[in-house]
Amino acid sequence: MSTIPHLVIAGGGAAGFFAALAVKAVNRALPVTVLETADRVLRKVTVSGGGRCNVTHACFEPAALARFYPRGHRELRGAFHKFQPRDTVAWFAARGVPLKTEADGRIFPVSDRAQSIVACLTREAARLGVTVRTNTGLQAARRQPDGRFALALAGGARLTADRLLLACGGTRAGNGAQLAQTLGHAPIPPVPSLFSFRVRDEHWCEHWQPLAGVSKAPVTVSAGDWRQTGAVLITHEGLSGPAILQLSAWGARRFAAQNYHFTVSVDWTAGAGARAQFLRCRQHAGQRRLGSDPQFAIPQRLWARLLTSAAIPADRRWRELRKGEAAALTRTLTVSQFQVAGQSLHRGELVTCGGIPTREVDFRTMASKLCAGLYFAGEMLDIDGVTGGFNFQNAWTTGWLAGTDMAAI
Ligand SMILES: Cc1cc2nc3c(=O)[nH]c(=O)nc-3n(C[C@H](O)[C@H](O)[C@H](O)COP(=O)(O)OP(=O)(O)OC[C@H]3O[C@@H](n4cnc5c(N)ncnc54)[C@H](O)[C@@H]3O)c2cc1C
Repeated sequence: MSTIPHLVIAGGGAAGFFAALAVKAVNRALPVTVLETADRVLRKVTVSGGGRCNVTHACFEPAALARFYPRGHRELRGAFHKFQPRDTVAWFAARGVPLKTEADGRIFPVSDRAQSIVACLTREAARLGVTVRTNTGLQAARRQPDGRFALALAGGARLTADRLLLACGGTRAGNGAQLAQTLGHAPIPPVPSLFSFRVRDEHWCEHWQPLAGVSKAPVTVSAGDWRQTGAVLITHEGLSGPAILQLSAWGARRFAAQNYHFTVSVDWTAGAGARAQFLRCRQHAGQRRLGSDPQFAIPQRLWARLLTSAAIPADRRWRELRKGEAAALTRTLTVSQFQVAGQSLHRGELVTCGGIPTREVDFRTMASKLCAGLYFAGEMLDIDGVTGGFNFQNAWTTGWLAGTDMAAI
């Protein structure tokens, strides 16, 4: 029997690949095998960020960075002290893939091609001798009395691992949750995060649907205990855009429990203070007609809709605006309410809320607290971030921590 330990990683995604490369960075001689169910690795990286791959985010302070994760923020805070976006940028740059930061903080490859990231990871894995087996999903894992793992692979093959990393991605698909369960873990049932809201109140089809395509920023949206400010996009189905997606992430579990039926309140002024603004308009632009004088950078079509909702004639001049009308317009501008009746998944970036409970994992090493020799990384954990490169950063950080510790065998 070979005395050289064998490390096995289930999942050829961002987290699994990064973990394999971290192992090799510590000890190049250690045999590492990446098992992948699909016929090719890194599929999500390939399609991520609209084909450009939003690799990470330009937020380099661990506590501030952790705040972008509705689940996992407490645990990631410490982890980011060990591997954070600055390390991600340096890692790729050192391997010939320079990254660039866009105005909103999102970081992409200079090439604007996700393929640059995929090529870099697969090239490094080949150079360092990582064994990659596609079409070879891990079907079952059992911890033997000697502490090693007996693995059953698709196609009937068997393998023994001294250490096993489960990096199987979101637990809504595949058998990752089941594998973890058989090894003593209790995965949290998955629900989607980062989704748009379907709106189906009585006014939607007639009054709001014709505005599909109109967006406004900033807008403050709130539902339940959560509030987010950012851009909102009106769609055929309802409301979308970054502020809505972020709200969906923070409220993911509660909204699922409500079967996606709840009220969302929209402040189109983003807290700018409607009354004071009306006063200024009355004083400085009293002759102007409201219909042709949108405020708060609200697009004309949306402004016209809001005036109609507040029952204010478009030809009303600011100086003629009655007290009751000003109050109605203030209400409409600051607390437009919509009845959400369902969710639609956002195609750009989709992530799972739920997975391995963070309390079952030691975030210094990503080792299981329940099963010696077992590790977790990436989206398989009950960790998810909002849009902006945070989900990949979770994969890089936890993959790197897991690989580094697995290598110290
Ligand atoms: C369309 C889309 C675009 C996205 N864009 C971005 C973006 O620009 N920026 C960002 O930060 N995030 C983005 N995300 C989220 C990001 O892709 C994920 O958070 C990230 O890929 C998670 O990495 P992972 O390695 O944990 O899981 P995955 O990438 O899902 O990889 C897991 C792998 O494990 C394999 N697997 C599963 N079970 C087994 C098994 N039993 N045995 C062997 N293999 C198994 C799967 O086939 C898969 O290849 C996007 C997601 C989607 C869907």
